[in-house]
Amino acid sequence: MSEPMRLLISSFIICAVAIVFYATSLSYQLQLTSLLYRIPFVYQVSSAVARNTTSSPSLLISSDTADRIPFVGLSPIPLTSLTPTKSANMTVPRTIQKAFLATEQSEGAGARVRRSIGTSALRNLSPFLMLDHASVSPGAGFPDHPHRGQETITYILHGAIDHEDFAGNKGTIETGDLQFMTAGRGIMHAEMPRPNPDGTPNVAMQLWVDLPAKLKGVEPRYRDLRASEIPQITVDEGKVSIKIISGQSHGTDSVQELAYTPVWIFDVTIHPGGKVTQPLPVGWNAFAYTLSGSTTFGVGKDQTTVGQYHNVVFKREGDVVNAEVDKDAAEEGRLVLVAGLPLDQKVVQYGPFVVNSQEEVYQAMLDYQSHANGFERAKGWASEIGKGLVH
Ligand code: MN
Repeated sequence: MSEPMRLLISSFIICAVAIVFYATSLSYQLQLTSLLYRIPFVYQVSSAVARNTTSSPSLLISSDTADRIPFVGLSPIPLTSLTPTKSANMTVPRTIQKAFLATEQSEGAGARVRRSIGTSALRNLSPFLMLDHASVSPGAGFPDHPHRGQETITYILHGAIDHEDFAGNKGTIETGDLQFMTAGRGIMHAEMPRPNPDGTPNVAMQLWVDLPAKLKGVEPRYRDLRASEIPQITVDEGKVSIKIISGQSHGTDSVQELAYTPVWIFDVTIHPGGKVTQPLPVGWNAFAYTLSGSTTFGVGKDQTTVGQYHNVVFKREGDVVNAEVDKDAAEEGRLVLVAGLPLDQKVVQYGPFVVNSQEEVYQAMLDYQSHANGFERAKGWASEIGKGLVH
């Protein structure tokens, strides 16, 4: 064997050994383990339909975050696939694939989480990766942690949450507000519930939405959606009220361009005796998460009634979801109805990194550890709001 070849081979072996050693060293493993425990959980709900990919400056309402990354979006979705036509007596109700209780678990000190998507009960519902419904006591929170490759949608049900990221963005979302965050190639941030004057826990939902492979490398982006920006309508003679967070209901459109992956989200309250039929884009995956009361989904012999804290997954066939509350019910039913465009791609998730292959997981861990490829600003960064928490 020639000397240069021998040198080449031995340096290759040295490199390989160094990489293996690095990847298996105890401290590295511990760091990753602690990273996993810090998977922020919860709060969020979902996004917008990229029906219109042109930028609408008027919609870029005062988020606390300064940087405005142009919205790339996906190919426009034909309106005809979203809206029933005049001959809409052809509508086909969606039936239920499964409905299950989201059991409550402790997650770290002071946080209780009901996770329904991203569990063994519901692993795959593209583009949705995770749905958490969390209650966080004063003093608890989600200090500095990274993300790559997904969008997160946080919906505040009670209280307020401060956020701060490594790009210097800071802000607070309060009851009824949402934050749409695109992690893209990399973000590091803290999400810290703000203690309520009356000592009550903060309650929020967080939905993780996969990004199409071609958009996983985009720059991170935030979009806060204030409660005051969300159109609210009533139907069925006032017995049903719908907050149109994202998408279209009964002819009313939400704010557009909230996120890259098309998602519809409605916060629906049905008073006893009320019923609603909500069209959803054909072929999208859809589910409802019940926050309170007892709600009946479906029609005819397929009707199923579920109590609170259930995730109701609908079959893809059909174009409307039907929901109603018995006229003799003791209380109103409240649910969050979500639908999203399924992405035809492999999902490989390691904690807060959601990519398309095992190699990309290694790359994400390496980039995070070495402050490269989107994580440059993580070097030496620590949030102000996360400092109170030991983690
Ligand atoms: Mn987070």
